[in-house]
Amino acid sequence: MSFKDLKGWTKSLKRPAIIAGPCSVESEDQLRKSIDPIVGKVDIFRGGIWKPRTRPGNFEGMGEEALKWIQNAQKDLDIQFAVEVATPEHVELALKHDLKILWIGARTTVNPFNVSELATSLKGWDGTVMVKNPIHPELSLWKGALERFYKEGINKLGAIHRGFHSYQKINFRNAPYWQIPLDLKSELPELPLICDPSHIGGDRSMIAPISQRALDLNYDGLMIETHFDPDHALSDAKQQVTPNRLIEILANLHARKPEFTNQNYLDQMEIIREQIDNADRELLEALALRMNLVDKIGEIKKDNNVAIFQISRWKEIFKSRTAWGKQLSLDEDFVLDLFRKLHQQSVKQQTELYKREENETLNND
Ligand code: PEP
Ligand code: MN
Repeated sequence: MSFKDLKGWTKSLKRPAIIAGPCSVESEDQLRKSIDPIVGKVDIFRGGIWKPRTRPGNFEGMGEEALKWIQNAQKDLDIQFAVEVATPEHVELALKHDLKILWIGARTTVNPFNVSELATSLKGWDGTVMVKNPIHPELSLWKGALERFYKEGINKLGAIHRGFHSYQKINFRNAPYWQIPLDLKSELPELPLICDPSHIGGDRSMIAPISQRALDLNYDGLMIETHFDPDHALSDAKQQVTPNRLIEILANLHARKPEFTNQNYLDQMEIIREQIDNADRELLEALALRMNLVDKIGEIKKDNNVAIFQISRWKEIFKSRTAWGKQLSLDEDFVLDLFRKLHQQSVKQQTELYKREENETLNND
């Protein structure tokens, strides 16, 4: 796949691209009070028209009526809006009201039938489609949804990272699992990746730190829910920020350069990267030595008919290695993960040794 680069989206899109506006469009007055103060400071505006609510009985959006308010705002203010669509009927209405940017919500991305229907209804469209990650952490489903649009000739695509549902109580509304969007980006480097700190954090105090984290990780843009009176918003009240607060957050963010060609910087990088290369080589040599010793110990266990896995040794390894790691200022979870992986591999290697012996016995019988 070769996705059009971010610049293709609108007339003059900068990086990071800022998408902002209310979670839901509630009235023409609410819309204009929420967006007018940020015209010129934001690249694309957002507003939910049809709201996918987890439980029935909550505000489900204003529907077609709100599209008219958006159409007016686009014309009056010379701006571009994005709305969420979940059915071909939504697509038809959005296109009828001059929308050039659509997004697919997290609850829709999970359903390939739904995504296929949407992709077919947009066949050959030259607008932009942004696909939010599915509710659960599955990279292939997210990629699959993007592919379905691409196959229908839509090549202005983007991905929105809005976090993943977690049954456990966590500090986020939706767990970020940063590795998943980064894996998507490394597989599809040209695909613009947008972070939605509002739905990840679920709280307005978390917008700034999550946005900065995304910029540190080289994201292409941010989507931030903005409402003129967040506490009285009809949906996602806790996580929306006022237009003024948005301006403040944006002013305090540090955009990072994707690359830097300054010679002094490059020289410093080269020296340290060489040291890292050496450290990695030594790490691999130590690993090879360890895994050799694992085979040796496996042979002795096998000759003495002793079980491969001994819980006491396993516990001792975990205890001593995390303590050694601590003395070296290494993160405890990191050391634990590493040794879990090493131990897994040791058991695997020794199991293969034992299997080999079984096969030999069978063949000799
Ligand atoms: C939204 O953007 O308002 C929304 C409903 O998001 P999500 O699909 O990420 O839950
Ligand atoms: Mn919302």
